[in-house]
Amino acid sequence: MGDKVKKCKFVFDLDATVLQVIEVNVEKTLELLNRKFGNEFVERHSINASGYLHMVFPGFYELFKWLKDNGHEIVFYSSGIKERNEEAVKKIMEKSIGKYDNERVFSREDLFNAECMKNTNKDKDEVKKAIGIYYGNKKKKLEGKVVSSEELPYTILIDDDISYSYGGEEKNFLVVAWNMNYYNGDIYREMEQYFSFNKSFYIAGLIDATLKEMINNNKPLVDCLFQLQVLNTGQDFNKNFYFPLRQNREYYEKGLEILKQINSKLTLYFDNEI
Ligand SMILES: [Mg+2]
Repeated sequence: MGDKVKKCKFVFDLDATVLQVIEVNVEKTLELLNRKFGNEFVERHSINASGYLHMVFPGFYELFKWLKDNGHEIVFYSSGIKERNEEAVKKIMEKSIGKYDNERVFSREDLFNAECMKNTNKDKDEVKKAIGIYYGNKKKKLEGKVVSSEELPYTILIDDDISYSYGGEEKNFLVVAWNMNYYNGDIYREMEQYFSFNKSFYIAGLIDATLKEMINNNKPLVDCLFQLQVLNTGQDFNKNFYFPLRQNREYYEKGLEILKQINSKLTLYFDNEI
């Protein structure tokens, strides 16, 4: 990315995107993680927030540094509790760039609640529009909350759960692979483990491709993302669309190449096991 690149905004969900909270069997999980990844890895990727152990997925510290180095803004938007979110973000940014740089954090109380609207005398169509094509009443509305309407075409929300998209803002979503656990600790469903654990590399690969499209075609960022993530798959975009691009390993490999420039020790995990 050169100097000519328009400054964009990248809004990150926390849970199951950047990190995973370890709520049960903490001792046992730590033991398992130490055995699999080593003490150094576990220490580097552990964050304590509101008294809970959180494990950050590998590559995110480098991803944040890469985006910041290129002049983009990083924002966080999580349905979790504000206090926990803010503590986690501060610690993550310290590990990423050495300091918390006043990154904005949006939390549970910032969610757009379509359920509330139903109980008012709001127009039914307006409620329907807010909910959009996905179920779920809680929405991470970007326009007017996180960014202005002028900035919206250059804002991407990175999340594992598309149902948070506000009606009309589906194009702004970069959807990442989800997994119930940080690390499954077994050998079945290893592909899912690969996609979920390595998602920072997927994000880097896809953002890089999207920014290149934006420059080459002089089109808004979100249109380029929609082209790559949805239109190019040739499948209809509706609530059953499952974002198959997140299973394309080329993006993970490209992302690794990019983030390795920040930290040469980075690697794709479970690469030899699938
Ligand atoms: Mg999430």
